[in-house]
Amino acid sequence: MKKSVIRKTLSILLCLTLIFSFSAVAFATPDVTPVIIVSGMGSRPMTDAETGKQIFPPEAGPIVKGVFLALGPVLLALMRSPALFDKYGAKQLHEMLGGLACDEDGNSVRPVESMLYPESVDHYKAEFENETKTEVGMVRKFGESIGWENTYFFNYDWRMSPLDIADDLDVMVQHVKEEKNVDRVDIIALSMGGCVMTAYLAKYGSDSIHNLVMASTAFQGVDMVGALFTGDMQLTVTALLDYFVPFLASLNLKVLPKVLARMSAAAKKDGMETTNAYLQDVVNGIQPAIYEQILMDTFARSLGVWSFIPADQYDEAKAYIAQYATVSDAFMEKAEAMRDVQVNAEKLLKKACENGTNVYIVGAYGFAGIPVTSKAENHTDNLIDTYHMTGGCTVAPYGKTLNDVEGVTVTNGCGNKSHYHVSTDGVIYAGACMFPETTWIIKGMSHVEFGYDHETSDLALWLTTAKDPVDIHTDARYPQFTELDRSSGKLISLTQVNGQSAPEAEQPAPTFLQKIADFFNGLLEKVKSIFQR
Ligand SMILES: [Zn+2]
Repeated sequence: MKKSVIRKTLSILLCLTLIFSFSAVAFATPDVTPVIIVSGMGSRPMTDAETGKQIFPPEAGPIVKGVFLALGPVLLALMRSPALFDKYGAKQLHEMLGGLACDEDGNSVRPVESMLYPESVDHYKAEFENETKTEVGMVRKFGESIGWENTYFFNYDWRMSPLDIADDLDVMVQHVKEEKNVDRVDIIALSMGGCVMTAYLAKYGSDSIHNLVMASTAFQGVDMVGALFTGDMQLTVTALLDYFVPFLASLNLKVLPKVLARMSAAAKKDGMETTNAYLQDVVNGIQPAIYEQILMDTFARSLGVWSFIPADQYDEAKAYIAQYATVSDAFMEKAEAMRDVQVNAEKLLKKACENGTNVYIVGAYGFAGIPVTSKAENHTDNLIDTYHMTGGCTVAPYGKTLNDVEGVTVTNGCGNKSHYHVSTDGVIYAGACMFPETTWIIKGMSHVEFGYDHETSDLALWLTTAKDPVDIHTDARYPQFTELDRSSGKLISLTQVNGQSAPEAEQPAPTFLQKIADFFNGLLEKVKSIFQR
């Protein structure tokens, strides 16, 4: 009897062991959907295939050289010698970027090589495993989280049309599906990658995509590019302060008061107006050189750059650029095909949703625009304006709140009264954007700052790899509005929920930087009054 008990026990144990080992095998093969990270413009270097020289981004050597050589001419230009800026400054910049030149059909003049990654990043691990920033930091984040063998990185020549780039992306999508034996892949697109994705949806549909995350993307165009392509170059004291004071303050430079004192001196009798007029005069002086020598063959003949022009500025841009750059009819046809994709982006994305693809938008705000156009007063992520990036959120001008903007309704955006779509600082209203329930907006995150060790990349990972559909109400860590705390890398909620009435758009408490800006504005006013006596 004893033997039979032992035998029974042993066979039960054996059965249990077998069951556990089989389930262990099942657990060991995780159900991971492969991810394709679609890069933005120039996240990897481009080289001239013949000379082997890196042409983008310009190497440190030429940049340093260029800055030093351009410094003198820029100063001379500031003393109203635009001819000298033309001769030296613009030529330096042209030399730095000229390797990117395209012909009138939009083809590269030089044989240019972009870095391509046709296989999973497991094959190129050494290139990414120490990165922390931008696209390459994200590659590491995903590689470590879902497996390097399940992560793919799609890079391309950003000067080309997104509609042509989409063909190469489809080659990768089909390759990944076959290799991993899946019907759909997850995709996160960054910056210009958003233009590539809308072009892809227009050409190939969404059958192969499970989750599509559009993060910091230019899919609706970029204000600043539209402005530059329509000749809207503008420099004002306010725009300069908004843009540079945060940088200078963070550097704790003692030169700041000197610079501002010099500006104050220039302001003299009429204060800002005189200074602004003076700055504008300088801009007007160097503008032709900038357009003729830099914009023309390097950017105005790039179909990729044309995809950044907001559709409503397209015709104006076409007419304006014609005086500087000749492009062929075939070029314009391609450019306009991409404009049509931009106009149809909302329809394309909503059709994808109906077809079972989860579409998530991530945008950012908290930075003034680059102070070279009249659009500098719009909130940006340091590069792309928040309005376009978020698919049409209502955004107060930089330094203001929605209360200061006439005709803005900030209540009942989506019709669901249990929550609001207004950031607690009163700057953004998301109720009227393309996807109110699946758009995440982060204050203080600069362009593609999904840093490896920041919670912004946790959000990106969560959205991209979510098995089931998620929205802004799914996870308390990731509400619609958050602020990136740079020192800790954490996301702090800026979202109000479960209130009785819509939050008042409050005046944000002045930040340290704002206080500095206010101080110097006050100082300028004082200087002005002294000179008026
Ligand atoms: Zn809602």
